[in-house]
Amino acid sequence: MNIKELDNKYIAHSYGRFDVCLTKGKGSTLYDENDKKHIDFGSGIGVTAFGICDDIWVNAVKEQLTKVQHTSNLYYTEPCAKLAELLCNKSGMCNVFFGNSGAEANEGAIKFARKYSYDKYGEGRATIITLKDSFHGRTITTLAATGQDEFHTTFMPFTEGFKYCEANNITELNSLITDDVCAIMFECIQGEGGVNDLTQEFVDEINKIAQEKDILMIVDEVQTGNGRTGKYFAFENFGINPDIVSTAKGLAGGLPMGAVLFGEKLKETVTPSSHGSTFGGNPIAAAGAISIVERIDDTFLNEVTQKAEYITSQIKTWNNIKSISGKGLMIGIETTKSAGDIAKECLANGLLVLTAHKNKVRLLPALNISYEEIDEGLKILKEVIEK
Ligand SMILES: *Cc1c(COP(=O)(O)O)cnc(C)c1O
Repeated sequence: MNIKELDNKYIAHSYGRFDVCLTKGKGSTLYDENDKKHIDFGSGIGVTAFGICDDIWVNAVKEQLTKVQHTSNLYYTEPCAKLAELLCNKSGMCNVFFGNSGAEANEGAIKFARKYSYDKYGEGRATIITLKDSFHGRTITTLAATGQDEFHTTFMPFTEGFKYCEANNITELNSLITDDVCAIMFECIQGEGGVNDLTQEFVDEINKIAQEKDILMIVDEVQTGNGRTGKYFAFENFGINPDIVSTAKGLAGGLPMGAVLFGEKLKETVTPSSHGSTFGGNPIAAAGAISIVERIDDTFLNEVTQKAEYITSQIKTWNNIKSISGKGLMIGIETTKSAGDIAKECLANGLLVLTAHKNKVRLLPALNISYEEIDEGLKILKEVIEK
């Protein structure tokens, strides 16, 4: 059996895969089993932040592999401590809990938002407002947090205590603020939900309500974090100080790692035995993450912004474009054609792109993608969109 047949026979059928088997690559260039070249505008859904097999990342991971690969959280290890310091220095947050994925990070964020409120106000103040068209993960609780009806079927009962507000609807937001609300959770740019930008006014209103009512601001930076939008975290674009930030995807450059970052208010909330994760803070993932995070400085972030402008300024001039959304190297493109068809045609022509919410083509290239690779990819994308 070839790989595709093996996969179809033995892998549970939860994914609809594209008809390609990728075997190796470097930077933003990947090769399939027939040695056909593909330019990568998706970076494994925003995960391989510095591309495929980046030398510095490979060396950092290799070095840690020869020291110790796992100890459990019963013991101190260097990589996760150093990574936590780096993340706090970059974000202004105070401390970090490590897990292994975006959903796990959001579970932690939700648990500790509720614990903060329970410790201070007692029972009956556990409701979290999330946004319609958000995406927060695939566990029962993070599906409940996800504000899309299509995810709220089949797996009932879901975790209670979520209310959904239309993004950028200040009136609806205020109507949902009741005494039982402990937190508002949102992505600054909705990723899976369609690369939808929040407005400054809406984020300002969340911030105002949060300050006035001691309601926590949870920002889901699983997709937007770690340099993706041209700031270290996307919330910096809005001038707010969240209480809790979750992140994952690009954090460890391709190794599974998630993190919950806590602000000043939650200093006393995370107490011994209140949460845990066997693999969380894994030394190899953490060593890989350090090699990524420490390179995301202001110079690098400016380059991300410049590349983004280089890309969007061209796309704007193409035929069949209806709208462009997103920020930095998180780009949503609405065209007159079906996004799914565009993704398939791009693949046939040697370009990997993503889609979001049925109607958008979504680009999440590696943050260090070269201009040569950008040019090659844009040429294919233009032909497919304009055809
Ligand atoms: C991908 C994503 C998640 C879920 O992350 P997993 O690692 O797949 O669990 C949560 N929130 C946002 C905003 C995401 O983009």
